This record gives sequence, C-alpha cells and structure tokens, in this order.
Amino acid sequence: RTAQEALTRLTVDVPDWPEAGVTFKDITPVLADHHAFSAVITALAAAGRDDHGTVVVDKVVGMEARGFILAAPVALALGIGFVPVRKAGKLPRAAHAVAYALEYGEATLEVHRDGIAPGERVLMVDDVLATGGTVDATRRLIEACGGTATGASVLMELSFLEPRTVTGDLPISTLLTI
Ligand code: IMP
Repeated sequence: RTAQEALTRLTVDVPDWPEAGVTFKDITPVLADHHAFSAVITALAAAGRDDHGTVVVDKVVGMEARGFILAAPVALALGIGFVPVRKAGKLPRAAHAVAYALEYGEATLEVHRDGIAPGERVLMVDDVLATGGTVDATRRLIEACGGTATGASVLMELSFLEPRTVTGDLPISTLLTI
C-alpha cells in the first residue's frame, strides 16, 4: 500500500509525449525519493517469493531501459542474478532475438544465449505495462534460452490498452492499475 501510495503521489503525467495524444507516465520522481524507491523495489520483489517468503525464481530479467533500474535492485533483494534484455545490436555476444509489433512498425529485443540456463525460472521486471508487446517478446526470449517465464512484475498497468489480451495467461503483478 505504501508503494501504491508513493506511485500515485510521485508519478507525473506528461501530456502529448513522446507524441500527440499519448500521456506518458514519468516515474523518475519515484526513483529520486529514497523511501518510495525502496518501497516499490520491495513490492516488485514479492512476485519472486511464495507465501512463506521463499524465493522461487532463479533470475530476474529487466528490459531496456527503465526496466534495468528496477530489475537490478529486485535481483539483489531476492539474492539472485540479473539479466538484461536489450534493443537490437547492443549485446556483444551471441544472442537470441525476437521481433514484435509496435503501434507503428516493429522492434527487436535480444538476450545473450547463455544469460538464462535451460530450466531456469525467470521473473520479468519493468516500469509500465502498456500494450503488453515488450513483456510478451521478453517471455519468448526467455523460452528461446530454454527457461520458464514465471511472470512479470510491473509498477503500473495501463489497463485501457488491454495488455493482457497480448500477454495471455502469464501471471502479471501490478502495483498500480490505471
Ligand atoms: P508495451 O510494450 O506497449 O507494453 O510498452 C511497455 C514499454 O514501453 C515498457 O518498457 C515501458 O518502459 C515503455 N512505456 C510505455 N508507456 C510508457 C509510459 O507511459 N511511461 C513509461 N514507460 C512507458
């Protein structure tokens, strides 16, 4: 509840950014407030534990770029490793790539082939769930490595964009639904 209160209080709506008609949720003020940042990391990490508090995932994946800021401290909180999912062409070694549809055109995300070992259970962490395309493409990257995507943990879900029609039955925990 503290995390949800902090998100509601500190997130700034930016109208018509990055383009006309889009209202961008700017979460940088949440990061700048130590208590808010700490509360949201604790809340995001709960998705990696069972009811007894036992950690039930092996890796945390964060999606470039804001996902990195959240996923890395979640991984440290859970005591497990962090793996970056990056935009095409950024990773230096052999990678799996998945292309997915954007509103206009296409984008590609990549993960190192050895970033996730076969059989590992992986939690995805990102700031905003919008159309669901990023989470769905990341799930496919995890599966290309032979891992299992246990779910996604996000700060905010823009439910009016109906992301769950894209992400299907993947469990997603959301601190704030808009
Ligand atoms: P999706 O693929 O449409 O679900 O978009 C999610 C991705 O775009 C995430 O990686 C977010 O960081 C980013 N994103 C989309 N909308 C917003 C927003 O309003 N604020 C911050 N990030 C956003």
